[in-house]
Amino acid sequence: MFDDLIDQNPPVQILNTLVSRGSLPHALLFSGGTGVGKRQAALALAMTLNCESEKRPCGVCRPCKKIKAASHPDIIEETPAGKPIKISRIRDIIQILSKKPNEAKNRVIIINDADLMTPEGGNALLKVLEEPPDRSYFILLTTQKGSMLKTIVSRCQTLYFQPVSKSAILSQLHRHGDISEEKAEMIAQIADGNLSLALKMASQEDLDPTILSGGRIDLLKSLVSLKECSTGYLLSMARDLFKNKDRIAGLLTLMKTCLRDLIVIQLAPEKVINRDLTETLAHLCESQPIDTLLKRIDLIHTAERAIQSNANLRLTLEVMIIRMSRV
Ligand SMILES: [Zn+2]
Repeated sequence: MFDDLIDQNPPVQILNTLVSRGSLPHALLFSGGTGVGKRQAALALAMTLNCESEKRPCGVCRPCKKIKAASHPDIIEETPAGKPIKISRIRDIIQILSKKPNEAKNRVIIINDADLMTPEGGNALLKVLEEPPDRSYFILLTTQKGSMLKTIVSRCQTLYFQPVSKSAILSQLHRHGDISEEKAEMIAQIADGNLSLALKMASQEDLDPTILSGGRIDLLKSLVSLKECSTGYLLSMARDLFKNKDRIAGLLTLMKTCLRDLIVIQLAPEKVINRDLTETLAHLCESQPIDTLLKRIDLIHTAERAIQSNANLRLTLEVMIIRMSRV
């Protein structure tokens, strides 16, 4: 079971034990970073709870296939895409739960980014978690457990998903296609435990110019000279980012990694991610107050959140770059 999950033995073992003993709690919380397999685990569990085959989940029986294709009527998945999960949505889910399942042995409610639930939404959910309907399982996923209502967290059994190890990411990158050692190494460093991001970056051939050292040196230089740039130049930087909108997630991560390294080289040089650029980093960090670098990372976070909630991409990038030049 859960064979496709990479490098997540502890939560997988716990799930296996709970399922085989028939003691799976009705509310689970999967906590861990982005791209480490939490949703995949939730879907595998939903399949396990509904599979018709002896070896569960088989992945090929009718319920398994439907769950895989996200077309099973009794597997309810909430994906807030950066927006708050309001009480009205939780009420909708409760309404569905008041009726009998259409066809499922066990109904599963998967709530992605559960930390985005409003307190009102959370309290409404809490009532259901306290007295869950028969044959209904809740799986809450979060990257920010600390932002969740404590009452909700205490109702759930929490399973922790760790960042995927660099060696596991490397072997996955090589398994998924032809990739040079150098590129794989760099992607694994930048992805920093986020396997989905690593695979996404590897599938984008045109990422090479940025990934390989020349592109990153240019990026570092731009990031340290933002204050001296004219507004026109800053807007052209935003435009360049916008042109690469298909790989914007990877580029923003790369920018954060570069800013992070400009801090780390000043404090703990051995922990630098862009190890091949240590000399450049040491040289460029001289004029960079750590406080400014942290604020710039924060502005990228803010932009990422806005992009997730479908804000205007071009405007978001422009505002991000202009603000970064002023901190
Ligand atoms: Zn099956």
